[in-house]
Amino acid sequence: MDGVLWRGETPLPGLGRFFQTLRAADYRFILATNNATRTAAMYHDRLRRFGVEVPAEQILTSAEATAHYLRRELPPGASVYAVGARGLQEALEAVGFTLVSPGADGGGSLPPVAAVVVGLAPEAGYRQLATAASLIRAGALFVGTNPDLTLPTESGSQPGAGALLAFVQAASGVAPTIIGKPAPPLLEEALRRMDAEPAETLMVGDRLETDIIGAAALGLQTALVLTGVTRAEELPGAPIRPDRVFAGLDELSDYLERPMPAAVPSDE
Ligand SMILES: [Mg+2]
Repeated sequence: MDGVLWRGETPLPGLGRFFQTLRAADYRFILATNNATRTAAMYHDRLRRFGVEVPAEQILTSAEATAHYLRRELPPGASVYAVGARGLQEALEAVGFTLVSPGADGGGSLPPVAAVVVGLAPEAGYRQLATAASLIRAGALFVGTNPDLTLPTESGSQPGAGALLAFVQAASGVAPTIIGKPAPPLLEEALRRMDAEPAETLMVGDRLETDIIGAAALGLQTALVLTGVTRAEELPGAPIRPDRVFAGLDELSDYLERPMPAAVPSDE
């Protein structure tokens, strides 16, 4: 969403028309983000402020994709230790997991848990990460919401979830299973929700190394918009080419509004 639909607090040009285009042509769509700190409901509210109504069920965060991934891996109601913000905690509780918390100082001894989930956690400190590492060493599954090492903010680049994962991986000696782009689980959950096949699905993203590489690996069609992270100048030397490149949402809408090739043979 960031870099495609908006930048920071500013909606990108063509936002309203883009959703009209999707609905007029009856495209199924999911808005998928690596951000695990916010809930789908928070994104729904943000889009409403921008004049666009999208049901929360059509918004998928890496936190929710993590919860659904673990629901398939663990027994119902299993204990999970989560280092993450509200979006992650709520997503895990929503599918019935029991969140185990070591308390504000991160200290104390914890009973074994089935899984440790690490996402971006602005409040996390050494003790919480140390507890995560020791639970993983004791046998808990280690899952990371998203691999982003940094995230762009208004005040410059800040450490992302991937930086915390690197800390816990170094301390535990175990590599996490990653849910967010470019790893498959987030995109697979989006396909499941749309009941869509990869080849009939277009991934629209602003980052070559996550959105485009991850989607191409799963066999989706790919479109890069140049309103976010990846710049046009980077494309010639890049290891992968998106199937299509658009300046922004208006060009993308033009493309989606074009007459489609006939699905059935015509009488011509
Ligand atoms: Mg983006």
